[in-house]
Amino acid sequence: MDNQQINYNYNCDEVKHVIFVKEIMERIPVDDQSMEYKQIVQLIEEYLSLKCQHSLVLDTIDVTTEKSLPIMYCKWCFTTFNT
Ligand SMILES: [Zn+2]
Repeated sequence: MDNQQINYNYNCDEVKHVIFVKEIMERIPVDDQSMEYKQIVQLIEEYLSLKCQHSLVLDTIDVTTEKSLPIMYCKWCFTTFNT
């Protein structure tokens, strides 16, 4: 982590609260979620894709010990994007 990075979230309070709700909703593993619950999560994701002032971070995830894949995600809402 780069501590020099400016770490200011420009999102309005509404978006910040929705991000907070998303974090709480994701505490239930996807496999244990009901269909109605998943619909709420999907609505939240759609809302954030429109309203979040994304701040993209490029990172890599290790798939195996020898292979890693690049991923890009928003550091506020953790939406992932194709790289
Ligand atoms: Zn975002």
